[in-house]
Amino acid sequence: MKRSILITLAIAAALSCTACGKTDDGTASSRRKFTSPTEAATTAAVTTEALTEIAQETEEITTEAASEEETTAAEETTAAAENATTGEAVAAGGEAPAEDVIKTEAPSPEDPDYAPAPAKHDIAGITYIQGALIANKSYSLPADFAPGLDPTCENQFYKMTSDASKKGLYIYFASGFRSYDYQAQIYNNYVARDGQAEADRYSARPGYSEHQSGLAIDVNQIDSSFDNTREAKWLADHCHEYGFILRYPQGKESITGYQYESWHVRYVGTDLSYAIHNSGLTMEEYFNIDSYYHE
Ligand SMILES: [Zn+2]
Repeated sequence: MKRSILITLAIAAALSCTACGKTDDGTASSRRKFTSPTEAATTAAVTTEALTEIAQETEEITTEAASEEETTAAEETTAAAENATTGEAVAAGGEAPAEDVIKTEAPSPEDPDYAPAPAKHDIAGITYIQGALIANKSYSLPADFAPGLDPTCENQFYKMTSDASKKGLYIYFASGFRSYDYQAQIYNNYVARDGQAEADRYSARPGYSEHQSGLAIDVNQIDSSFDNTREAKWLADHCHEYGFILRYPQGKESITGYQYESWHVRYVGTDLSYAIHNSGLTMEEYFNIDSYYHE
């Protein structure tokens, strides 16, 4: 009889510990509200004392139970490891996980991976160099230019995020086309918050944003918390394979005019994206242009 009561107590204690251990989001604390830290500490001490007594009295039982638990835990770990391996194998198409190969050879137009340059807009006031639209601090866009997100850019973006998801990476659309007026709102808010000099380092003045071209997309968390994620690394390594370039790389602020933005990609098509990626240059360096406000 005593043995069965003790087993029940031991199991109850074990279960409650497991629940606490797995609850990292405040669920545990919502179950029992302490009126003060002192009360919490006292209760914890009493609980510990009680558990110690139970542990001493049920040494034999606990040892048995523990060894069983260990066995179960070991089995679970093995199963988890097997699942992880299987998951990766499935992601890679049923074979062993492939190495992360970064492509450097641009596809030809007949190749399924080929992505054409976006359509050109025959509108005065837009600068094109070698067929590529330029929008930076030196080259602005007309205020009434509002093409929306380019459809080729959009298709290629979702092809890219779909491939990323097969690698277990979650890359999602956060911001694409932004009109002149919307950019004005955003920029003015930043100026009000941080002052113009600081705002100019990370936000474009209206008419100068690449987002107004319909060819730029921000992904995931639009701030430096995205910088060192697996998604950011994959995006930097592979976006050119889908026709994008990482537009504002690290350490190039004096050239691009903007701080490092791990989350901002620009669609140019695979001919140019491979050329720029392979060159290791920014768009400004590649075309030998500058990016600063001429006013
Ligand atoms: Zn952006």
